[in-house]
Amino acid sequence: MNRQANVAVIGGGIVGLAFAWTAARSGKSVVLFERDRKAQGASVRNFGMVWPIGQSSGAPHDRALRSRELWSDLASQAAISLDTVGSLHLAYQPDERAVLEEFADRAPDLGFDCNLLTAEETLRRSPSVRREGLLAALWSPTEACVDPRQVIATMPHWLAETHGVQLRYGSIVNAIDLPHVRTTDGETWDVEQAIIGGGAAFKTLFPESFDGSGIRLCKLQMMRTGPQPGGWRLGPMIAGGLTLGHYTAFQVCPSLPALKQRFAATMPEFIRHGIHVMASQNALGEVVIGDSHEYDDAIEPFDKPAIDSLILGYLENMIMFPEPTIAARWHGIYAKHPDRLIFTAEPQPGVKIVTAPGGAGMTLSFGFAEELWKSWG
Ligand SMILES: Cc1cc2nc3c(=O)[nH]c(=O)nc-3n(C[C@H](O)[C@H](O)[C@H](O)COP(=O)(O)OP(=O)(O)OC[C@H]3O[C@@H](n4cnc5c(N)ncnc54)[C@H](O)[C@@H]3O)c2cc1C
Repeated sequence: MNRQANVAVIGGGIVGLAFAWTAARSGKSVVLFERDRKAQGASVRNFGMVWPIGQSSGAPHDRALRSRELWSDLASQAAISLDTVGSLHLAYQPDERAVLEEFADRAPDLGFDCNLLTAEETLRRSPSVRREGLLAALWSPTEACVDPRQVIATMPHWLAETHGVQLRYGSIVNAIDLPHVRTTDGETWDVEQAIIGGGAAFKTLFPESFDGSGIRLCKLQMMRTGPQPGGWRLGPMIAGGLTLGHYTAFQVCPSLPALKQRFAATMPEFIRHGIHVMASQNALGEVVIGDSHEYDDAIEPFDKPAIDSLILGYLENMIMFPEPTIAARWHGIYAKHPDRLIFTAEPQPGVKIVTAPGGAGMTLSFGFAEELWKSWG
């Protein structure tokens, strides 16, 4: 006899975990399939930044704030640490300060809780910030940090223990024809609904659903230090001027096009590799540093030391920390839709594909899962 569950979730990345949690919260029995023994995708390779300030005002920002609440709920129930440190965007050039001022002016109307700090106020928030040349910073209390390795290792077991989610790790789903979900290790499950969050491997099931979608793959290079000595803490997560050109939230600022033009003219190698520089610190004390963005044909299996040097050189002008030696380097790949914050499709009645949250999967997936689950009735 086939095994039974109400809902099959395919993919043990943050999207799959978000849907497994949401379906289980609504009382459904859930089976979660992950092809690897431990999920290895973008969800374990990221900064762990829950980053509402990057999302455009309105529904995307609201969704990010809702996700942030859900992260707090999760952290209070599971053994997952959520560091509610907030964020600082640092301005070392007048055109960067102009964008931050414009954003801070508009923030109350747009629903953002943030304000502009002087250089002295910034240093009081974060002694790690470099004083020389600092003009101002945007402080926002809403950003929070998780350690993705801890989330990806812990959350599935917490789902199993507290919500009865059945885990099938090391199990590849290779065919879905509801009610049947089949795996390469010979299991067949009978389910009412299947939700597929396959990440960068999105084309392994129902590849025709992606025809003409325009979804692209993006590769990011990352680094981290070892634990900083003496319990040193970074404080708020750090972003620099380049980040203002990266996140859609700042597109409301009239000065942004001129800032981007300056970057293109004076920092072409940063722009060519899609580099903007951010830093977070996890509960182990490691500082996580990134990142670059290379798309489609530019993606190679081999990392570029030149990208790491550019990132570290830029970071050195923004922050100081006691032990900057890089302990690990890696890259991650995510899928991104050209316009939509997440791609959904229904290739069969009852089968939902939910993928390509781009660079905001940790920020948006919990909110998206709740919204989409409700909308499916
Ligand atoms: C370097 C980097 C830094 C980032 N930083 C941040 C950040 O700080 N904040 C933020 O919000 N976002 C960040 N992101 C984006 C975020 O990591 C992604 O949006 C998110 O992890 C995507 O989650 P996912 O579940 O769709 O994909 P994945 O994490 O790739 O998970 C998909 C899973 O599905 C499994 N799978 C696929 N097909 C099958 C199958 N047939 N059967 C069984 N299993 C299958 C795969 O093995 C994989 O584990 C970053 C991304 C990268 C790469």
